Amino acid sequence: MASVDFEHVDKAYASGSLALSDCTLHVEDGELMAVVGPSGCGKSTLLRLLAGLESVTRGTLRIGERVVNDWTPQQRNVAMVFQDYALYPHKSVRGNLEFPLRMRRLTKDEMRRRVEWAADLLGLEAKLDRLPRELSGGERQRVAMGRALVREPAVFLLDEPLSNLDAKLRSEMRAEIGELQRRTATTMLYVTHDQVEAMTLGTRVTVLDRGRVQQISAPRELYERPANVFVAGFIGNPPMNLFPMRVSIDGGSPRVELDGQALRVDGEIASSLAPFAGRRLTGGVRPEALRLAKPGEASIRAVVEHTEALGYETLAAVRPGGAHPSEGGRWMVRLPSAAELAKGQTIEIAFDRAALHLFDEHGQALGGAAPR
Ligand code: ADP
Repeated sequence: MASVDFEHVDKAYASGSLALSDCTLHVEDGELMAVVGPSGCGKSTLLRLLAGLESVTRGTLRIGERVVNDWTPQQRNVAMVFQDYALYPHKSVRGNLEFPLRMRRLTKDEMRRRVEWAADLLGLEAKLDRLPRELSGGERQRVAMGRALVREPAVFLLDEPLSNLDAKLRSEMRAEIGELQRRTATTMLYVTHDQVEAMTLGTRVTVLDRGRVQQISAPRELYERPANVFVAGFIGNPPMNLFPMRVSIDGGSPRVELDGQALRVDGEIASSLAPFAGRRLTGGVRPEALRLAKPGEASIRAVVEHTEALGYETLAAVRPGGAHPSEGGRWMVRLPSAAELAKGQTIEIAFDRAALHLFDEHGQALGGAAPR
């Protein structure tokens, strides 16, 4: 096994598009790093560079301590599993698992040992003589992974490997991949556009947007302390409510406007926001951090536009700022299912100061702005 390093890596395709820009990323030996971002953000490019299927335009790529920029894919000893893995239809599971080993000068015993090890790891012992068409979707996916594992790669790359599976199977396979990674302690890069997959699988998660690394953090940190507006709006379902926010000093005390609406704030909140007076900030509050205000509490007035009763909770889309849609954006609020809201109803919503995220004029999180 080995660590992986991208050091200031750029990748420009012949078409001129810069698919990765100044990408710096360290993956520990034995770590499962999830890489997530919207379609076209450069995720596959990142893996293809590491596998040696594309060349680096600028920067350094290391596997272990070695610089591998000029190494062939074979020299790198990296295994890759794609969404569209293709098994050999006329070969048995054993034949498929053996295939990548045939190119190598391995003894028959060694080949058998590796195939049986992978089959055991993946629960395929009883299926070794079956053909791919005699397997379920999940089993076929496992064979594809086994075929990569038998090579005992230094690094294991997975590119949206579960996209073709239905939701239930995806969640089962996700758990299996996590377990497999822990048992084998293989260094793994797992690319997905699905934040749930990234958050539940990754020891750490790298968020990419338009070819740039936005944040590399443990899942919880990513959720609790997004580094910028992009990450705040990408991680979480529904995502964080983001809104323009102005703080001004009015007669000595700070006045806060959220989404164009003056907010009555208590003394503690006001004094914590005073240092930001005069600035155009972006505020953020997660839907689950909003609640119906208690009487007399500092609150935001909002009109209910739409509700979804999910049984265990109610999701409401509300428009702060009362009756004038032009004044405010739309916020999502997550409330206990007991909350009965009607479309058009005016409600007062509140949140704790610790739940308020602040971002500067460039969309970067203001450190220490939300003490917890
Ligand atoms: P993702 O995997 O996140 O969807 P990709 O890494 O596939 O993103 O693509 C990143 C960007 O690079 C996109 O704008 C895409 O159009 C471009 N791109 C990808 N592959 C090529 C290629 N072979 N030639 C030219 N441009 C490419």
